[in-house]
Amino acid sequence: MTYNYCRNLINTLSFHQHNVRFCTTLNMGELISTYEETPKELAYKIKETREKIRNNLINGIIPTHCLNCIYKNNEYITQDKITKIDLFYWFHCNCSCFYCSYRDETKGEFSDKEKIGNPIIYDTIKELYRLNEINTEELDVNVGGGELGVLKEFPKLIDLFLENNVKTVFCESSGIKYSKAVEKLLRKGKGCITVAVCSGTPETYKKIKRRDKYRQVMKNLKKYVNAAKKDKNAPDNIYNVVSKYIILENCNNNLTEVKKWLSESQKCGIKHVEVSMEFCWGTKSKKGQKIEDYNYEIFKYVENECKNLGLLLRENKTSKALMEKGVY
Ligand code: SF4
Ligand code: SF4
Repeated sequence: MTYNYCRNLINTLSFHQHNVRFCTTLNMGELISTYEETPKELAYKIKETREKIRNNLINGIIPTHCLNCIYKNNEYITQDKITKIDLFYWFHCNCSCFYCSYRDETKGEFSDKEKIGNPIIYDTIKELYRLNEINTEELDVNVGGGELGVLKEFPKLIDLFLENNVKTVFCESSGIKYSKAVEKLLRKGKGCITVAVCSGTPETYKKIKRRDKYRQVMKNLKKYVNAAKKDKNAPDNIYNVVSKYIILENCNNNLTEVKKWLSESQKCGIKHVEVSMEFCWGTKSKKGQKIEDYNYEIFKYVENECKNLGLLLRENKTSKALMEKGVY
């Protein structure tokens, strides 16, 4: 029998800066906690809430928060453990991108110093493993941020996931600080890192990121590529290092810059790229407006160039859905 629900309600757990929820979509999922508990209490609350939601779904009751969400489908409930953990629970970053969706909170402040993100996350996840709430071998982890390179507990978290045989840890990073923990993941074929470079020159980079770190970022990308290449028996690991380009109005929305970005990425040994619309701000500030033509033009250009250059192009699902719809 199928049920009208979304898998996030059964299989995903998202740690955000102010709360724990079931998803990290633009809608954000049903609330589980606002971090008032100890790690043991929080893990238990997560277990209980998940059980309640699952029983409700079987009885046709969908959480109010999810009623109008477009991600719901008619599906079978195949297994009930957590197979996806999102770690988006801190703001601290070593970059200051003008388009950052956290700017209301950070006011653009950044620092190269490491800071603790939230001291209870590690113990909560450890407890969830102990409670057998996580499907260890199927678990994918998404690390967003803030920036993982300045998150003090990041290496410890990665060791915990590796000890429990995680499937893949998907990391997003500014790329400014080289992370040995990410290197460890890449060497073992257990991780993927995406760096939004968004530029092909130091000048454009600085304009967007507010930091003069273009050369350093490209050097680190090259080091990650070399780490991914270390396992000679797994040549595909090289595709686990991704250079990304977010299209930003009046900044980099021109083919000259895109061309340079592709060429500079290739010089670092990159084989996998992604292009994305800017939609975190766009969907709020441009709601109902037509998607600009330059987005279509750049997507088409990158698609063709990737074929010519032998690069793998990763699909950006949110951009694709918005562009098919034609409006924000
Ligand atoms: S139905 Fe939508 S809001 Fe609810 S958990 Fe799924 S994706 Fe998130
Ligand atoms: S790297 Fe990410 S978290 Fe840091 S400022 Fe840029 S968009 Fe924000």
